Amino acid sequence: MAYKVTVDRKKCNGCEECLEVCTGGMFRMDRGKAVPSEDVECMGCETCMRVCDPKAITITASGVTLSPTFMNLMSVLDDDEEETLKSNRA
Ligand code: SF4
Ligand code: SF4
Repeated sequence: MAYKVTVDRKKCNGCEECLEVCTGGMFRMDRGKAVPSEDVECMGCETCMRVCDPKAITITASGVTLSPTFMNLMSVLDDDEEETLKSNRA
């Protein structure tokens, strides 16, 4: 699932909290307001929404779904990671 990020400029108070928390680097400042990037992929974690006091950020699912091949690959990687964690604990 892909996500679209929007910022309501009227609500944004320019605190820059969203810039601090988004590890993907989604936001930049423009004339004292946060602006989401068109080139950065949002993971949908909603951390930026939670830290935004004036509730200026909206995250919506864009309806673009990941291909079954990609999802299979991700689940294989997840399994590998679990195995690695188990073997590290043993
Ligand atoms: S956290 Fe909210 S109020 Fe603060 S800069 Fe980001 S969008 Fe604006
Ligand atoms: S939802 Fe998560 S990944 Fe998306 S812009 Fe906010 S902090 Fe960044």
